[in-house]
Amino acid sequence: MNHPREASIFSNDQEKAQWHDETIWLVRSKRDQAARSVPEWEWLRERASQIKAHTLSRLDDYLRQFEKNAIANGVHVHWATDADDHNRIVHKILQDRGVKRLVKSKSMLTEECHLNPYLIARGIEVIDTDLGERIIQLAGEAPSHIVMPAIHMRKEEVGELFHSHLGSDAGATDPAYLTGVARQHLRRKFLTADAALTGVNFAVAETGGVVVCTNEGNADLGAHLAPVHIASMGIEKLIPRAEDLGVFLRLLARSATGQDLTVYTSHFHGPRAGAEAHIVLVDNGRSVRLGQKDFRDSLKCIRCGACMNTCPVYRRSGGHSYGWTVPGPLGSVLAPHVDIDSFSSLPFASTLCGSCSDVCPVKIDLHGQLYAWRQKIASHNHSSGKSYAVRVVAFVLARPAIYRMAGWIGRWMLRHARPVVHRSLLKNWGRSRDLPAAPQQSFRSWYLKNRETP
Ligand code: SF4
Repeated sequence: MNHPREASIFSNDQEKAQWHDETIWLVRSKRDQAARSVPEWEWLRERASQIKAHTLSRLDDYLRQFEKNAIANGVHVHWATDADDHNRIVHKILQDRGVKRLVKSKSMLTEECHLNPYLIARGIEVIDTDLGERIIQLAGEAPSHIVMPAIHMRKEEVGELFHSHLGSDAGATDPAYLTGVARQHLRRKFLTADAALTGVNFAVAETGGVVVCTNEGNADLGAHLAPVHIASMGIEKLIPRAEDLGVFLRLLARSATGQDLTVYTSHFHGPRAGAEAHIVLVDNGRSVRLGQKDFRDSLKCIRCGACMNTCPVYRRSGGHSYGWTVPGPLGSVLAPHVDIDSFSSLPFASTLCGSCSDVCPVKIDLHGQLYAWRQKIASHNHSSGKSYAVRVVAFVLARPAIYRMAGWIGRWMLRHARPVVHRSLLKNWGRSRDLPAAPQQSFRSWYLKNRETP
């Protein structure tokens, strides 16, 4: 995957790119307002970061404690080493119970594991019930944001999609009307589902319970109607105590959308009478990251999406340009762990301005991690174009005569071959920038003429 190429495809539609930038910035502004309304905001961030650091330092103990308590609550606990393992476990649970229709609430982990195509290929109907997720499922696309998966689509596009798939009125674009159509459609699916799958925002070691945050109540509806509830979670979602939840819940919704709390904060502590509950704990590379000093802190992430909303590169290049489940600064840190060759361009999709680290509610040093990846990629020669360029510049700067000649050629080209330099040599850089006017002389010649001799 090549981020600059994919980003330029997105930004070619200038009107849409501008609208995307402004829409996401609005969410970032709401986050700022919400953060300012809490005087102890910085204390909360520090506390959350420390709780996560502590949990990660004893993750094995807390995982065992969580498993013991969940089993005592009547939950079946499964362990998955990787994405395939996760998919096999979920499929076996469904197959053994003759499940034909599964309703899912939003889960980035199942996107990471590509669960939907796995189950669909085995004859199980999978319905994403989060409105944004359902929109992109109908459109046959991947999420472009971890909190607002269909943020790249305008209401006109959603109207057309619903007209062709759900039979809504042609040309209808009213969000309230379209949401009503989706509600009717999804309600029928909820009522006839054989099983429900949810993600997990937090898992509490001392109680064995899991917490799921949604704005639509779709996780609750699915889990309370279907006879089987499966909760899939990455092993980093643990926190030690129920009282720690207050810290994270206050940070999560404010950082994500500027709300005080998500509309639904649902606590699941076991199956209801006559039903079954399963929790699948997934590693999929997380324990490797736990052992890497430079990248371990990325496991503190609570998936709020704030780093995406603030990132000037994400806002102007769109989530799909990252080519991986999680886009933006966080995705650029995570994706190279999966495949350093395929995703070597992502750590460079950043200005290193540090805004992502500034807004992160658990104080992950995201820009530091992006910089660490750049160093690794450069040392593995995964960025040969830039390495050659730096070597050429080092060669020129170390030789004054060649440096003066390069300056003369540069000024000559600026005067006589400006369009060639602008359009061909500086292609992407030059598309939205102007070149400076060529100076009459170099600084060196000016200095030699004007310096005062003692
Ligand atoms: S890295 Fe921080 S800001 Fe980005 S999604 Fe995770 S918690 Fe939110």
